[in-house]
Amino acid sequence: MTLVAAQAERNESLLTWFKANSRDLPWRRSTDPYPVLLSEVMLQQTQVRRVLPKFEAFMEHWPTIESLAAARTDELLRVWSGLGYNSRALRLQDAARWITRSGWPDTLAGLCELPGVGSYTAAAVGAISFGIDVPAVDTNLTRILSRWAGEPLSGAMLSEYAYEVVGTPAGDWNQALMDLGSAVCIRQAPMCSVCPVSKWCGDPTVYEPPPRQSRFEGSHRQLRGALLHAHLNGTDLHDIGRALNRSDTEIALALSALEDEGLIDVVLRDT
Ligand code: SF4
Repeated sequence: MTLVAAQAERNESLLTWFKANSRDLPWRRSTDPYPVLLSEVMLQQTQVRRVLPKFEAFMEHWPTIESLAAARTDELLRVWSGLGYNSRALRLQDAARWITRSGWPDTLAGLCELPGVGSYTAAAVGAISFGIDVPAVDTNLTRILSRWAGEPLSGAMLSEYAYEVVGTPAGDWNQALMDLGSAVCIRQAPMCSVCPVSKWCGDPTVYEPPPRQSRFEGSHRQLRGALLHAHLNGTDLHDIGRALNRSDTEIALALSALEDEGLIDVVLRDT
């Protein structure tokens, strides 16, 4: 069997498995680019179970890209609160305003120009909503493709391999690999005996897992989130910082960073 025929068989088996086992996620119920972009931005560095209630809340408050563009930014941050990495919400609104003015870009390069949209998010939205045949390579895909290839892949080699093996429609293929990576081809101890593509897998043992994300408790991220939440709710910022056992210097540095990123002046920005 040729390599191309083997890849086609692997993709067929993967997509058949996906049809029967795909997760029922609210942003998958249409290919409308707005919920797809919203979910992809929320899912950056945040787990699906934490994104689900926030996604529903956003869609309820702002059901269209135009309504998101017109939203009060302090209200936007209030609803976002709890997801972390709050500057994502500001960039998302910047993107919504851009799209409301100029329309949706329907090319990969155009999507990459949207505020807060990197190459992965552009590829995910492009494949699902605009039918572009592009692999959306994140840590899940990196792990699975490395196992398929039988060697750890990164950089240009990873990108080349991903473009070589991507199936069509690429939107389904990307999402199938997401689900395979979350349910079967997990980071440690992949469940190869129930894997729909085991026949075509190079070596399940080659992948070097990335280091785990650092602890949230006591982190700079925790302090930033708490300060922003307090700011939006009119609570004394220094009281909150001290309740978390942080020094005045730590609090001042975190506040100054939030100010630099435009997060702490959001109320002024809308009045
Ligand atoms: S066979 Fe194992 S390592 Fe290979 S893709 Fe399937 S679960 Fe992952």
